Amino acid sequence: EQARSEARVVTLDLSSADATLDRVSLMRELPRAIISGQLFLQYQPKVNVRREAVTGAEALVRWRHPVRGLILPGDFIAAAEECGEIAGLTIWTLRQVIADQQVMRAHGHDMPVFINISGVLLADDAFVNEACRIVQDSGAKIGFEITETAVIRDPDSAIAHLQRFSDIGIPLAIDDYGAGLSSLAYLKQLPATELKIDKMFVMQLTSSNRDPLIVRSTIDLAHALEMEVTAEGVETPAALALLSVMGCDMVQGFLISRPIALDAFVRFLDEEGHK
Ligand code: C2E
Ligand code: CA
Ligand code: CA
Ligand code: CA
Repeated sequence: EQARSEARVVTLDLSSADATLDRVSLMRELPRAIISGQLFLQYQPKVNVRREAVTGAEALVRWRHPVRGLILPGDFIAAAEECGEIAGLTIWTLRQVIADQQVMRAHGHDMPVFINISGVLLADDAFVNEACRIVQDSGAKIGFEITETAVIRDPDSAIAHLQRFSDIGIPLAIDDYGAGLSSLAYLKQLPATELKIDKMFVMQLTSSNRDPLIVRSTIDLAHALEMEVTAEGVETPAALALLSVMGCDMVQGFLISRPIALDAFVRFLDEEGHK
């Protein structure tokens, strides 16, 4: 018994050392990965709840690693934040989205694309200046998604920076609402025009007793604050129907489309236009 439990401890230690090593090596590889074109974007459409129109898209970053294969952002964004690469990654994303929007426009599709902005960047003056300059110079329709948790770190600085984004016409969406440290005090102060309900409340919407109550009251709260509401993680027609009854404005999720590469996204938009 004693030996077995010791063996288990050793295994646990090894695996956590592995995970640390892994993160460190990924962090070291990231700058080169950005330069050498290993990162790419997928787009996930956001549609109005009646599915009549695509109102925008969210850009999601992926890493095609030469040895490890496809790495999803859940496995490298936190590392990028820790090692200071997140600003470079986000600026790369911003420029790529602007270039991709030119392709969309060439196909007759013109819509805002939302980019995820890490909380650490809301305290980074240099990042905020550069992002504002790039968006203004391009004239592109770019929106930013931010989490409330991001604001709690240094509220005054974060809110001031968000106000600057808003002032130059960048719409702001509160991401993952309800999943983190939500504070109604910040919600009231943020210059956001959209609230995205976290998928953890949406994915079991029609099989849970409480989630529908939470979602409905969140929709009402957002509307009272004059924000539009997007539900993310919409996977079933039943969830979509319920969200429609509840007055949700927009939906995003696998039911509509998974995140897809630019060319597939353009085809998706072509087909939507002919429905
Ligand atoms: P998020 O902003 O909450 O993005 C939505 C995530 O939910 C995406 O995962 C998307 O693929 C997934 N998703 C969308 N619809 C459904 C659905 O119907 N069902 C289920 N089960 N999942 C759905 P992804 O692409 O793995 O991204 C994970 C997170 O990584 C994002 O969460 C975002 O916080 C972060 N992220 C992605 N791209 C970037 C980026 O460029 N910069 C930063 N800072 N973070 C990013
Ligand atoms: Ca997001
Ligand atoms: Ca989200
Ligand atoms: Ca999330």
